[in-house]
Amino acid sequence: MMQVKKLYPGGKEKAFNITYDDGVEQDVPFIAMLNRYGIKGTFNLNSELMRTEFSWRHPSGVDIKRLGVDAVLHLYDGHEVASHSLTHPYMRELTDEELRRQMGEDKRNLEQLFCREVAGFALPFRYYDQRIADCAKACGFEYSRMSEFSLTYAPCTDWYYWKTGVYHIMPELKSFVQGFLETDRELAVCQIVGHSYDLDTENLWQTMEDICDAVFRRDEIWKCTNLELVRYLRAMEQVEISEDSIHNHSNMPLWFWIDGKKVVINPAEKH
Ligand SMILES: [Zn+2]
Repeated sequence: MMQVKKLYPGGKEKAFNITYDDGVEQDVPFIAMLNRYGIKGTFNLNSELMRTEFSWRHPSGVDIKRLGVDAVLHLYDGHEVASHSLTHPYMRELTDEELRRQMGEDKRNLEQLFCREVAGFALPFRYYDQRIADCAKACGFEYSRMSEFSLTYAPCTDWYYWKTGVYHIMPELKSFVQGFLETDRELAVCQIVGHSYDLDTENLWQTMEDICDAVFRRDEIWKCTNLELVRYLRAMEQVEISEDSIHNHSNMPLWFWIDGKKVVINPAEKH
């Protein structure tokens, strides 16, 4: 019987991603940092708020400013842009029609603005229910990220109820990342969620830079966006593993350790 372990693209053993919300000024130095370390991020934007100058005062006294349309056009090149709703409302209070507008129109606006596909949704605030999950699906999103955290490295199994790994202001941040670097769990994933303004208000720049540096040094880590992760893991669900063969029924190449060797199995191929 074959010994099989599922791997990420390029034969990487683990996946790492950062996903930040709201499209604020601190995204500029933060993305410069991600780019220095070859880390990919997913940035969740509110297209209607980007059109008006919009700022608010954080409880710490720091003024948080959103980036305008002109400032973002090339900022997110190489990273994923995802929807965070048109205006960041409390989703629970919306009629079905308004919910659909907040999600569907934001997706279309962002696609037009950035001239690329926008297929991810990240929830504003915390309230989530089946209606929001269904609406995300109906609007054509491939995943919907909740504002809850799993504190595990296990890949998500329901992409419309996606609990991500850790919120970067949680006290567990450093130990969570350290555990990720050490784990040999199959298809381990570490996802860090937050807002780049937290780096100022919580004094987290150095911590995040240390994390990026540690991940950058590990060749076995796939630095991916949310959407790349979702698509790969969805494809991995379409693989058929029996005692002596692996059949890839998906439309993308999939990677494995098989009896101590790294193997790529192409779409429709059997190993
Ligand atoms: Zn937000």
